[in-house]
Amino acid sequence: MKFCVALGGNPNAGKTTLFNALTGSRQHVGNYPGVTVDRKEGRYVQNGHDMHIVDLPGTYSLTAYSVEEVVARDFLVSERPRVTINIVDASNLERNLYLTIQFLELGIPTCVALNMIDVARGRGIEVDDKKLSRLLGVPVVPIVARSGFGKKALMDAVETVAESPLPQPLRVSYGPDLETAIQEMEAIITGSEFLTNLYPSRWIAIKFLENDEQIMERGRAADPPIADRLEAITRKVGAHIEETLETYPEAMIADHRYGFISSMLKQGVVKERHDRNRLFLSDRIDKVLVNRFAGPIIMLLVLMGLYHFVFTYSEMPVAWCERAFEWLSAMASASLSDGLLKSLIVSGVIDGVGGVLGFVPLIMFMFFGIAMLEDSGYLARVAFMLDRVFQMFGLHGSSVMAYIVSGGIAGGCAVPGVMATRTLRSPKERIATLLTAPFMNCGAKLPVFALLIAAFFPHSRARMMFILTLISWAGALLAAKFLRVTVVTGASTPFVMELPPYRLPTFRGLVIHTWERTWQYAKKAGTVILGISVLLWAGMTFPRLPDAQVETFANQRIGFISAAAPQVVEELETASGSRPLSTAAAELKKALMAVDARQTGAALRHSLAGRVGTGLESITRWAGFDWRTNIALLGGFAAKEVIVSTLGTAYSLGTVDAEAADSLAVKLAAEPGWRTLTAWSLMIFVMFYAPCFVTVVCIARESSWKWGAFSMVFNTSMAFFLAVIIYQVGAAFGY
Ligand code: GDP
Ligand code: MG
Repeated sequence: MKFCVALGGNPNAGKTTLFNALTGSRQHVGNYPGVTVDRKEGRYVQNGHDMHIVDLPGTYSLTAYSVEEVVARDFLVSERPRVTINIVDASNLERNLYLTIQFLELGIPTCVALNMIDVARGRGIEVDDKKLSRLLGVPVVPIVARSGFGKKALMDAVETVAESPLPQPLRVSYGPDLETAIQEMEAIITGSEFLTNLYPSRWIAIKFLENDEQIMERGRAADPPIADRLEAITRKVGAHIEETLETYPEAMIADHRYGFISSMLKQGVVKERHDRNRLFLSDRIDKVLVNRFAGPIIMLLVLMGLYHFVFTYSEMPVAWCERAFEWLSAMASASLSDGLLKSLIVSGVIDGVGGVLGFVPLIMFMFFGIAMLEDSGYLARVAFMLDRVFQMFGLHGSSVMAYIVSGGIAGGCAVPGVMATRTLRSPKERIATLLTAPFMNCGAKLPVFALLIAAFFPHSRARMMFILTLISWAGALLAAKFLRVTVVTGASTPFVMELPPYRLPTFRGLVIHTWERTWQYAKKAGTVILGISVLLWAGMTFPRLPDAQVETFANQRIGFISAAAPQVVEELETASGSRPLSTAAAELKKALMAVDARQTGAALRHSLAGRVGTGLESITRWAGFDWRTNIALLGGFAAKEVIVSTLGTAYSLGTVDAEAADSLAVKLAAEPGWRTLTAWSLMIFVMFYAPCFVTVVCIARESSWKWGAFSMVFNTSMAFFLAVIIYQVGAAFGY
């Protein structure tokens, strides 16, 4: 076989030395066209393979900052050498790997020559080449170019690479802000085949973000409208990052690449025999924060501290919000005349959407806390530490980020979480991750938990949230393990996580990040949730009770009234509320209210939603869910917030005393069918049952409809199974 091998690396890594060792006298020096950069070429023959070897100019990067970089990159892209030997100075590994990462991102077949191991050893540095090879996914061969040691082994590895299929480009993940932009750009690039004959689509997106003049010019020449769109996205995310993090995309990209390298090196690739006192501040902080023993304890404390902070400080504003909606509800009740419109406004809109909007302050505090963890760089450490645990459950370190984005700390969203699984290289691990990420407690489940916690565990809010978080992680990991030994079996792949340096979050950045996410939540409540809430209200109102039945209830009322003494009836009619009623009048009132309750209950049961809910009751009774909860859970498939709004509407429609505009939590706590055990069973069910509709669509798009359907069936079965166990065992022990 005859093929071309390029030799690339940092200046002074030993390229020329290796080149001479390989080609001997069979070489000649020319020039790259149009520039005064030497182009050395030669031949190397082994095992019948005739290799044409080209010494690339030495560069630290593959951006278009210097002529050398442009020449090296253009050569790789246009001449497509079958293998590129990346020669790396082992005594200066961190800086040299920066270029390696870029070769891999470009998706070119690479083989790493770990050079100068003699120098490294002399300085007390030992590099674990096998581990490095596993983490990078390419061969790594230790050599000493000057003595020729390792030359044969290196060229054997080159042959292996030449005979293997072309690799997939490496995907370094660049943090939520940039990733969102990259994914959007990638879709545009792939869809319009924009320069994709030359470069991988993700790579083009990253180059736009890096403001790479050459690529942008080529893009403008090839397809101006698409280039305009990409540049617009670049400007937008650039401005956003500037505002929130006071940095710019190029710097963030470099940070994440170095983070990727630093986490690789932290996994034991480099062993230094004596401390060379080169620890930077981030590394020194990491000595404590990701310490094998102290790290996990600190992590749990941070989490508990976060919940404590969220629940303590959001208590007052949440109470204000609730009171505002109660007031609104009472105002609307008083000013509208009885009828469908009043029912729609009070039960459908105010009690439905109000239930969801009431939690805005809590959500806001949670987002603020998460923004703090994220902007400071701590979140990446959490993922780094959890990697070891994840491996045990057949998942990948990158799954941690997907979990956290989905609401691993409470208050995320499974949709970007499912998208975040794109950084996983193994399809098996990816499926297991995208099926289990929706088990995390997303921002939509949060109000459901907050409601039930407020109703049944008012004195241990932060602790309950902490316990629920642990349960969701345990459930997700066990389910993942189950999936990995049953339906998506296969070996696990090694992991490298980006560890960007710590930075002090700016207040402005925190406020903007918090506001963005809170606004999204509120906007959803005002649009999608409002729509679904009104639909479900209609489902709970129609068909209405037949006239004959309404008349029966009216007759019952008349019966009570005519049986009572006239002065008692008069007392009740003129009662102002400030004066206590006589015993007889109070009794009459109670009797009439009981009739009202029976009527509203009968009407709700008679409605379409009521019938469906009642029909399911024979099964859901095992988990302790009554028909009203069933309606809410069905609605929750559209969006989990709807569970709260539907319970709000159902218990508002069914409420006896319209005057008492109690908050939903108070109503639930007072409801005879509800107790602590019901709350537990419901919380667990909500945590694990079918992902919301949008997430299912997303799972299907990221894998296939088969997996989308699977996630609904599997998750709901698992959730129901757990809920039944909790409810039945709890009941057996008398709870
Ligand atoms: P280039 O800039 O990548 O072409 O690097 P060179 O091949 O010019 O090498 C730079 C210097 O490193 C030269 O002085 C080489 O002799 C030296 N060098 C190259 N490889 C090794 C090695 O494996 N061990 C040692 N000790 N020195 C080396
Ligand atoms: Mg040289």
